[in-house]
Amino acid sequence: MSTTQTNKIEIIESLTSKIKEVNFDNLSFGSVFTDHLFECDFTNGEWQKPVIKPYAPFLLDPSTRVFHYGQAIFEGMKAYKDTDDAVWLFRPDENYNRFNKSAVRMAMPEVPEEIFMNGLHQLLQLDEAWIKKGKGNAMYIRPFMIATGTGVIANPSNDYKFMIILSPVTSYYSGDVKVLIAEHFSRAANGGIGAAKAAGNYGAQFYPTVLANAAGFQQVIWTDDATHTKLEEAGTMNVFFRINDTLLTAPVSERILDGVTRKTLIDLAKSEGIEVEIRPVLVSELVEAAKNGTLKEIFGAGTAAVVSPISGFSYQDVYFELPKIEKSVAIQLKDKLTNIQNKLEKDTFGWTVKI
Ligand SMILES: *Cc1c(COP(=O)(O)O)cnc(C)c1O
Repeated sequence: MSTTQTNKIEIIESLTSKIKEVNFDNLSFGSVFTDHLFECDFTNGEWQKPVIKPYAPFLLDPSTRVFHYGQAIFEGMKAYKDTDDAVWLFRPDENYNRFNKSAVRMAMPEVPEEIFMNGLHQLLQLDEAWIKKGKGNAMYIRPFMIATGTGVIANPSNDYKFMIILSPVTSYYSGDVKVLIAEHFSRAANGGIGAAKAAGNYGAQFYPTVLANAAGFQQVIWTDDATHTKLEEAGTMNVFFRINDTLLTAPVSERILDGVTRKTLIDLAKSEGIEVEIRPVLVSELVEAAKNGTLKEIFGAGTAAVVSPISGFSYQDVYFELPKIEKSVAIQLKDKLTNIQNKLEKDTFGWTVKI
């Protein structure tokens, strides 16, 4: 290993690369990682010297707080390579700000912008060969933080580890996605952690999702916990409904995660002349629109899949199949967005940031 020092980050380069073992045409989402990771520890009330080093497992004491009390947060973002081999991020400030919001909600220390952004930039530069060009190809970036203090004492940890790992991905088609509208389970509640990208939110939604899978549905559409009458999110994505030619999506709240894809699609749709209404969307109006034929589309929105069209939904044991649409708004917006992200179309919004 060779050790160099740049911009205060210690860089320990791997002497070998795994890149030749990877089939970039057949990547299963989030399962392959690059040669390096970024790491910065928080101890004695301070962020310590950051390091980039070879990707490898690490040891933790069995009493480490994250295992017992779940102080764990993450982000999901992507980097793209253009036809001139330049690498671009998409609205990285949004992810950085949201990461620290999540940190505050979980009583974890905020990560300084310099550590987050410099770490991200230098890690991407080092593993740049892993970023492939072309529509749909991207580097999925997973910044995360865990409580590393020891002792089974139910208090916030004094020690934390912030890391960034990278996973090359290609665009994926989720196939037919049928969803079940939640009538009992909830993803989030007022006063809870639904607006934070906290690991526990995901753990808590696995069980209802497994039950939905067993009933023949790929995902759950979450409703508000108090009344189960308002449509809030689809699985781990924000959700849009198209009734006639209007797109509807719920306003973000304590229960609804402020997705970057969601806010981007709202702006894109408006710029394409599509009417967008941001307001609570009722289960009853969805059922009504499905019955009278005005419901045209439902789709999820998130960084991983970008846009994920839904083919039908079930509510109170009645299944409603959506019409098959030739030129869906979902695909129109997905095309537009991935073209901007992959720099195949001009970014008039100023969303893309060069590495
Ligand atoms: C991450 C996430 C989203 C999507 O956010 P993006 O910033 O668009 O990736 C939506 N809902 C939940 C619950 C999430 O965790």
